Amino acid sequence: MVAEDSLSDISILVTGGAGFIGSYVVDRLLKMNNKVTVFDNMSSGRMDFISCHLDNPDFRLIEGDLMDTDATCSACRDIDLVFHIAANPDVRLGATDTRVHFDHNITATYNLLEAMRKKDVRNIAFTSTSTVYGEATIIPTPENYGPLVPISLYGASKLACEALITSYSHTFDMHSWIFRFANIIGDRGTHGIIVDFIEKLCRTPQALEILGDGCQSKSYLHVHECVDAMMFAVSMSDEGVNIFNIGSEDATNPTRIAEIIVEEMGLSDVKFNYTGGSRGWKGDVPKMMLGIDKLKGMGWKNKWESERSVRETVKSLLGKKDTKEI
Ligand code: NAD
Repeated sequence: MVAEDSLSDISILVTGGAGFIGSYVVDRLLKMNNKVTVFDNMSSGRMDFISCHLDNPDFRLIEGDLMDTDATCSACRDIDLVFHIAANPDVRLGATDTRVHFDHNITATYNLLEAMRKKDVRNIAFTSTSTVYGEATIIPTPENYGPLVPISLYGASKLACEALITSYSHTFDMHSWIFRFANIIGDRGTHGIIVDFIEKLCRTPQALEILGDGCQSKSYLHVHECVDAMMFAVSMSDEGVNIFNIGSEDATNPTRIAEIIVEEMGLSDVKFNYTGGSRGWKGDVPKMMLGIDKLKGMGWKNKWESERSVRETVKSLLGKKDTKEI
């Protein structure tokens, strides 16, 4: 249904639209002249990410939870397309709380799909993750890599969401876009390695704890490029199910990220203390880089390599805030 240039003048629901990535999606969709409804339980979403839109007649905020089936159903009324971004994105959490990803990723997605089915909403774009691949033996990992063997409960929950979405697409004539992200970073980031390192260095500028051996090699993409890629893919593809990796074509590691942060914070003689081992925590995938040939073949290409995205993110996080308050 969504053909080229048709991502405008439609009614779009953004679950998780007050979060880091979701709020940038909202900015972009409003700029493209859509009517946008944000549905967010504000668990990690922030009002200041979306407050600039509160007076816009094309914008509506529903503070609601995808675990609430009635609220989810009424949010889907008169919607053409859903960007389903809400989730608990904390990969590490699954090792201590085995329920959270099951509820807020799998059950929440099921509730949303049911609401869409009942309200006849036929289009869904979903933010999935590189972690569905598990420890891939082919790097860069293409979309058709298999078998998919996640090693974290988060990855498992996202893979389950993908399966629900593809099966609803087939059974109920929906269109779906599934985006498997590399690490997405940017200046509204509220979690992840960069925020973590800056917070630690603000507390203790002489030393930095780094999880693992510091050599984990992962690909990073700036959120603006990530949003570009999503808009591009939804506009340019119209299969029943459309799966895309979104990332950059290189990788960097925690030690290098720490060095960039130390440099940008103007610190010196910081001792890096490694917790050791090839992965940061149980469920951490030590090597990740996604093949993006599918998107490139259609004409999309990222501009910044991983380290440039890291540096720009660090600069904007440090520039915007008093580092003592981060
Ligand atoms: P985020 O925590 O900033 O955003 C998630 C949003 O969803 C928040 O606003 C939160 O309040 C909301 N939310 C959570 N549970 C909800 C529920 N039950 N009902 C309603 N709202 C709910 O995280 P993010 O980094 O912006 O991630 C966005 C999406 O991208 C997630 O689906 C995540 O799994 C995926 N993803 C992110 C990355 C990354 O590097 N940031 C990588 C791969 C995939």
